[in-house]
Amino acid sequence: MKKSCTQCSAPFEITPDDLEFYEKVSPVFAGKKQLVPPPSKCPDCRTQQRFTWRNDRKLYHRKCDLTGKQIISIYSPDKPFTVYEQSEWWGDTWDAQKFARDFDFSRPFFEQFSDLLRVVPIPSRHVEQSENSEYGNYNWGVKNCYLLFASDQCQDCHFSDMLFGCSDCMDCSFCKECRFCYQLLDSESCYRCFYSQELTNCENVDFSFDCKNCRDCFGCTGLRGKQYHLFNTAMQKDEYQEKLKELILTRSSIELARERAMELWRKQPRLHAHLLQCEGCTGDNLLQCKNCRQCFDGKLGQDCAYSQNIPSESKDCHDMYGAGYGAELDYQGFCISGQRTLFSFLIYPLGNDVLYSAYCGNCKDIFGCIGFKRQQYCILNKQYT
Ligand SMILES: [Zn+2]
Repeated sequence: MKKSCTQCSAPFEITPDDLEFYEKVSPVFAGKKQLVPPPSKCPDCRTQQRFTWRNDRKLYHRKCDLTGKQIISIYSPDKPFTVYEQSEWWGDTWDAQKFARDFDFSRPFFEQFSDLLRVVPIPSRHVEQSENSEYGNYNWGVKNCYLLFASDQCQDCHFSDMLFGCSDCMDCSFCKECRFCYQLLDSESCYRCFYSQELTNCENVDFSFDCKNCRDCFGCTGLRGKQYHLFNTAMQKDEYQEKLKELILTRSSIELARERAMELWRKQPRLHAHLLQCEGCTGDNLLQCKNCRQCFDGKLGQDCAYSQNIPSESKDCHDMYGAGYGAELDYQGFCISGQRTLFSFLIYPLGNDVLYSAYCGNCKDIFGCIGFKRQQYCILNKQYT
């Protein structure tokens, strides 16, 4: 089915697989299936729409609306929300059910959802099991990190995002198990690598692109298992070290070396996409995925589409950001790990059969709810049988 986007007018296609998916995720109430209509916006505009709900790395000072204490938050003080410092929010001193209200059939749902969103407390940030890392967001298990975002199990990392199991790194992005690295992008298992991209298992490699199992290389591209290479030329150890000393003597000589390296990078043929051990996939940075279309940054995904950041075992999910660890049949949302969760965000840990809800975990069969931690059969935070 060919369509024109109602937001940007770009043509886009809704495939038979898509239609089958919308049918499959359509919820059933009292024995009647409520069909999810095909989208009216193109995948890019849907992604934009999804991201309007996610502020990764803008932090503000504001007061906690429970204790009055000054806190760091992803919500600026002028936002019309009730914001609790995250540990207070996760505590038991308040009850989201107190904000329950009847559904008013004379008013549109989204108006009522918006009203609820303005009164139910929401958490200031999303940093879990972390220590001394106040200035960050969407982090898990991080210690002594400053301005680190969307990262997992890191220590002493700063000014970076999407780091996993890294320590002592700065100005890095999308790196896994790296140490003492600076300005490194899309790399894994590296030690003391600077200003480089797409390195795997490298040590002392600078200004290099797409190198694997290399040591002591500078300004190189496409090398495998090499040592003492300067701009892709092999050298003896002494010669390499002597030349390197000159190259990194001053700030301006480093800049010149960078330009020379970039020239080499540009000449290097590169993969059209990083689809490793994948079958029937389109997108980039996918590992061991099957039948994923227009997906980015995913692992072990299956039958997913139009999604980004699907870190582990997402199945049959469309239009997601940050879905994984058993996410299945989810549509339009972010930070989802449950099943049949539609048009929702920050539903974790777990949440099944969740519709139009936010900031809820361990919930089932909820519609238009906010701030629940363990609930079932609720609409606009009101409990039903
Ligand atoms: Zn569009």
